[in-house]
Amino acid sequence: MILGDIVDHNARCLRDHPAFLFEGRVITHGEFGQRVRRLGNALVAQGLARGDRIAILAQNCPEYMEMYCVAGMCGFIAVGMNYRLSAADQVAILRDCAPALLVYDPEYEDRVRELCTALPAQVRTMKLGGDAGEAGYEAAIARADAVPPPMRARDDDTVFLIYTSGTTGTAKGVMLGNAGQVEQARMLALSHGAQPTDRMLIVMPAYHIGGTTELLSYLICGATIVLHRRFDAREILDSMARHRVTAAHFAPIMIQALLDEQERQAVDLSSLKTICYASAPMSVALSRRAHRALGRIFMQVYGMTEHGPGTALLKHQHEPEGDSAQAARMASAGQPIPGVEIRILDEQGRELEQGRIGEIAMRSAAIMQGYWGKPAETAAALDGGWMKTGDLGYFDEDHYLFIVDRKKDMIISGGENIYSREVEEALLLHPAVLEAAVIGVPDEKWGESVKAFVALKAGGQADERTLIEHCRQRLASYKKPRSIEFMAALPRLPSTNKIDKKALRAPYWANKA
Ligand code: ATP
Ligand code: MG
Repeated sequence: MILGDIVDHNARCLRDHPAFLFEGRVITHGEFGQRVRRLGNALVAQGLARGDRIAILAQNCPEYMEMYCVAGMCGFIAVGMNYRLSAADQVAILRDCAPALLVYDPEYEDRVRELCTALPAQVRTMKLGGDAGEAGYEAAIARADAVPPPMRARDDDTVFLIYTSGTTGTAKGVMLGNAGQVEQARMLALSHGAQPTDRMLIVMPAYHIGGTTELLSYLICGATIVLHRRFDAREILDSMARHRVTAAHFAPIMIQALLDEQERQAVDLSSLKTICYASAPMSVALSRRAHRALGRIFMQVYGMTEHGPGTALLKHQHEPEGDSAQAARMASAGQPIPGVEIRILDEQGRELEQGRIGEIAMRSAAIMQGYWGKPAETAAALDGGWMKTGDLGYFDEDHYLFIVDRKKDMIISGGENIYSREVEEALLLHPAVLEAAVIGVPDEKWGESVKAFVALKAGGQADERTLIEHCRQRLASYKKPRSIEFMAALPRLPSTNKIDKKALRAPYWANKA
C-alpha cells in the first residue's frame, strides 16, 4: 500500500474529521486529500516526472505534509531541508539531490535567491501561499482538478529523501521507500494505540526523521495533527490544554522546558496519554520529575534517519530508581517495535548471543533503500536485507535493547574497549557537571586515551583532579579520563542540538571524523 492510497482512503472515510489544526485553521481529511490530488495534477501538468525531487524549505505547516503526501501519491521524491543550516550547507544538499522544484516559505525568499545563484543549473521554484490569482502554490492548487493524478506511485518508489544529522560525518541523503514507510508507520501506530480520536501535537521539524515519524503514523490512522511551526513552551502548553491533545513528540530538552513552564503556570493536561521522545534515555532526575508532574505517560523511541518510523520503544512503566531489573531497564532503548528485527553482530558480521555487545543491525520493511548517490556507503551499511546502524548495544534476557555507544565514538585504549557514553554518564553524576563529552585522543603508548570536555553548572565547582577521582570511584580505572578540559558550553550541531564530537576531535585527529 502506498501513502497516496491512505490519504485517499481517509479523505473518503473521514471527510469531515480534522486532519490538521494549525494557527487557527482547521483542515479536514477530506480537504487535505483534495489538495494533495490537486497538487499532484498541478505538478504533473508542470512536467514533473516520476522520481523527480521536490526540495522543501519551510517550517512546519500543513503544506509541508501535502508535499510529502503528493510524493507518496504520484512517485515524486520529497526532500525536507533543514532551514537552520547555513546557505553553504543548503547548497551542498541541493547540489546533491538536484531537485526539479524547490518549494519555499516566503520567509526564506532572500535565502532562496542566494541559493539559486550558487547552483550550477537553474532550479524551478514555487512560493508557498499567495492567492488564487498569483503565481505560486495556492494558485497552482486552485487551478488544478481534484481527480486522481495521472501518475501513481509504486510500492518501491523512494518517497522521502531525508538528510541525516551529520553527527559523525557529512549529512547523507537517506532514501526511504513508499510502501515500507507506510507499513512501519502503521506498526508504530499500533504500538501507540493511535486512533482517529487522537490529537497528536507535532513541533519537531518535518525535515528531521523525528518530526516525520509520529506525524505520519497518526495521520495515516486518521487522527488529528495539532501542528506547530516552532517551539515556545508557553504556547505549546496552552495548545495542549486548548485542543485536548492526547499525544505529543518532543526532544528531551523541550520536555524540561515544558515542565519548568508548567510549574510556573499550570494548565490542564489530563487529556495527554503519551509523550514520546527520542535520541537518548531521559536522565534519572528528569524521569523522576516528569513522572511526578504528568504520570508515566512517556515513551522513548530509538530511531534513526535510515529507518523511518522508529526501531525500538520503551514505555515508562516503572520508576528509574532502585536495584530492580525494571529500574535498570529505564536506561535501555526498550524493545523492538513489531515488524522490526534486531541482531547484534560481531566485527565479522556474525550474530552474537544475548548479553554480548556488538553492532546493532536491523531488518524491516522500512529500512532505507540506500544513501542517495553514495553506492560505497550504501554497500557498507546494507547487507542481504539487513542494515548496520553504526550503534553498539546488547539485549538483556527479556529482549530490552541497551545502546552503549556509537561505533565511531568508542575508544580503544591499550586494547580495551571504552564506551564514551559510560564515561559521560559517570561525569554527569557529579553535582557540578552540566554537560560532558568524552573522546579518544592519540596516545603513543595506549593507541588512544580518554579525554573529557566538561561544562559546569552555574555556580558549580570541580577541578580536573576531583572529576577524574569521581570517575575512578565509579568506573574501572582504565576508563577514567586522563585529562579534562573545561568549556563554558559544549559545541552542538545546529540541526539537532546533539553534541558535536567531530568538532571536539578535530584538533587531535587529522583524518578522523
Ligand atoms: P549521522 O548519521 O549523519 O552521523 P545521526 O546519526 O546523529 O547523524 P540521526 O539519524 O538523526 O543522525 O540520529 C540517529 C542516531 O541517534 C542513532 O543512530 C543513535 O546513535 C542515536 N539515537 C536515536 N535515538 C536514540 C535513543 N533512544 N537512545 C540512544 N541513542 C539514540
Ligand atoms: Mg547516523
